[in-house]
Amino acid sequence: MADRSTRLRSIVGTVGEKLEKSRDVGTVGDLLDFLPRRYLDPDVVSDLSALHEGDFTMVIATVKSAVMRSMRQRKGRMLTVTLTDGKHDMTTTFFKPYGHEGRLTPGRRGMFAGKVGRYRGTFQLTHPSYHLIGQDGDELDVYDGGLVPVYLDVKNVTSLMVTEAVKVAFHHLDDLPDPVPPQVRSRRGLAGELEAYRLAHLPRDRHDVARAMRRMRYAEAFVVQTALAVRRAAHQQQPATPRRAVPGGLLEEFDARLPFELTKGQREVGDALAVDLASSHPMHRLLQGEVGSGKTVVALRAMLTVIDSGGQAALLAPTEVLAQQHHRSITAMLADLAEGGMLGGSEIGTRVALLTGSQPAGIRKKNLLEAASGEAGIVIGTHALIQDHVQFADLGLVVVDEQHRFGVEQRDALRGKAAQPPHVLVMTATPIPRTVAMTVFGDMETSTLAELPQGRSPISTHLVPGSNERWVQRTWERVAEEVRAGHQAYVVCPRIGDPPGDAVVTKESSDEEDLAAEGGDDGAAGPAMTGVYEQFERLRETPALAGLRLAVLHGRMPADEKDATMRAFAAGEIDVMVATTVIEVGVDVPGATVMVIVDADRFGVSQLHQLRGRVGRGSAPGICLLMSDVEEGPALERLTAVEATTDGFELSRVDLEQRREGDVLGAHQSGGRRQLRFLQLLRDETLIVEAQEDARALVSQDPALAEHPVLRDRIVEVLDEEQVTYLERG
Ligand code: ADP
Ligand code: MG
Repeated sequence: MADRSTRLRSIVGTVGEKLEKSRDVGTVGDLLDFLPRRYLDPDVVSDLSALHEGDFTMVIATVKSAVMRSMRQRKGRMLTVTLTDGKHDMTTTFFKPYGHEGRLTPGRRGMFAGKVGRYRGTFQLTHPSYHLIGQDGDELDVYDGGLVPVYLDVKNVTSLMVTEAVKVAFHHLDDLPDPVPPQVRSRRGLAGELEAYRLAHLPRDRHDVARAMRRMRYAEAFVVQTALAVRRAAHQQQPATPRRAVPGGLLEEFDARLPFELTKGQREVGDALAVDLASSHPMHRLLQGEVGSGKTVVALRAMLTVIDSGGQAALLAPTEVLAQQHHRSITAMLADLAEGGMLGGSEIGTRVALLTGSQPAGIRKKNLLEAASGEAGIVIGTHALIQDHVQFADLGLVVVDEQHRFGVEQRDALRGKAAQPPHVLVMTATPIPRTVAMTVFGDMETSTLAELPQGRSPISTHLVPGSNERWVQRTWERVAEEVRAGHQAYVVCPRIGDPPGDAVVTKESSDEEDLAAEGGDDGAAGPAMTGVYEQFERLRETPALAGLRLAVLHGRMPADEKDATMRAFAAGEIDVMVATTVIEVGVDVPGATVMVIVDADRFGVSQLHQLRGRVGRGSAPGICLLMSDVEEGPALERLTAVEATTDGFELSRVDLEQRREGDVLGAHQSGGRRQLRFLQLLRDETLIVEAQEDARALVSQDPALAEHPVLRDRIVEVLDEEQVTYLERG
């Protein structure tokens, strides 16, 4: 008997060798997974006009005529067979006609495979391999009268030979261990693993193929969901220090000083967090919220709860600009509560320490010390920084801002900094479709802040065709009007470009803000990609903007310069900030009301949505102007979608539809082996929901998967090691 690991060559000989050499299909398991790319119905002739020169193809056609003639140049004869689909003809030529002449007679139908060429305007196949169908001498018995699977082109191996090999493999297989337990299969009406492979490789009809695919999709979802459920169960079993606010403590004092009322959503999420934090198991919660929905206040209140109970909180931001801004705004919001131990500070006050890579050594050392001693209740830094060096006295809560830049490994590295696993709150302003959340963050609980605080005016978004000089002109006039009304503007460009003079910003250090485009296939090779410096120079010479104070901001500026520029902008000392996507996440300057995005087609949907969330954060309405030269295609569709709605969830679907899913998942998980082969997250929502339900039920019965060794092994196979360690601990 064979199993998945049996060498193919040991059961099918040279065909196995060829498969291995050409397609790396070396074992029975590899062959099973070498699924047909499409299927032909032997009863239906192929459309012979729909071929592509150079492709390897397989068609079903009828012999129209067969003519034998002598060759002019050399000795011997050739056979020219004309095939037809009833409407279009195609020629096939045999230079060694022996044996073909008697079989390829007019009226016979067959399946012909070969490389498509062109000769005198018609398609042709030279020396195709073929199999006749129907009547006596039917050579397709191997298909049991069912569909004909067409496999990826394998050198010197026809699809029929693959099918024959598959049949041999099935003959040697008794059964296959199935990761999906029988109860689940029967509840969901799913084929077993072996059966699914049989249906996929040797289908009788389309129905069989559909049944096979459904099972394969489900199994994929189920394995991923079980891994996540195991991880979730493992979290739930870990010990954590419960954290509660105390009467007369920081949280109470802070709430009393809040200059606004919390929204209903903020209160509800706050309550959920309070319950999580008071638990003796660590919290793992994802907080999704529209841009500007007020996530920071919610997070800060959770941090104060932890400090009240004697612990510390770390706040991690994706960029230094954002870390600095969080430090500024949190210090300001806390006021005297952030001046613990200082003259004039509140008696119960704490301290907020900022850690950035570019700080002078002295300041950095002092801040590290405050973190280690516990003096600083809140430590703010970038992801990378906190990961490396910081020690805490009693780390109770980790808040990660803008998760879509933060991987699983980093989360875990941080968890290692506390004696007991800290509570974890992850925030993201990029709403993600439900199924993506379930697949990527399926081990966490999720909350959503849907409403925006009152008094916000919605952002209006308009497309500006870059080729229309008058509209462009009008755009800059509009910017000037906003400035005259006492507001400020952002101008966002897709890359940094070269600063004036000799200094050249090195290309290879290019970070994520440079070449911001993440939109689609029309990526790198597209037309315009205006740099910040270039745009800055251009705007300085634009009459409409004469006299305005312009500045440049991008990620490769020295950190203190960045900070100084942001401060000046926040203080209203700069009118127009020409920037890269360094301002994409979280930057909060209420005075900014207008944003012009240059070469907007170079950005992805979520990115544009994020970017425009930077304006209209005060009481004055925000305007976003998307400038672009594109007049058609997916890039225009993206821009139109962004213009049409401010619903982040709606946009996240558009985003996912346009991007390859691997990219979406890839951005969320660092270096995992996990790849979705069968699932499509938008299409397969029902299936994913069912798989999660089944997986969670199974794991609650059997957290270590002791009774499901096959499932356990499959998880180990598809998930990365870091995730597997959870299983081993379980
Ligand atoms: P985001 O969810 O995008 O991170 P922030 O937390 O930065 O949003 O909040 C955006 C702005 O709204 C901040 O200036 C904040 O002080 C303010 N804000 C937060 N909650 C409220 C509220 N309930 N009412 C009014 N303003 C609020
Ligand atoms: Mg924020």
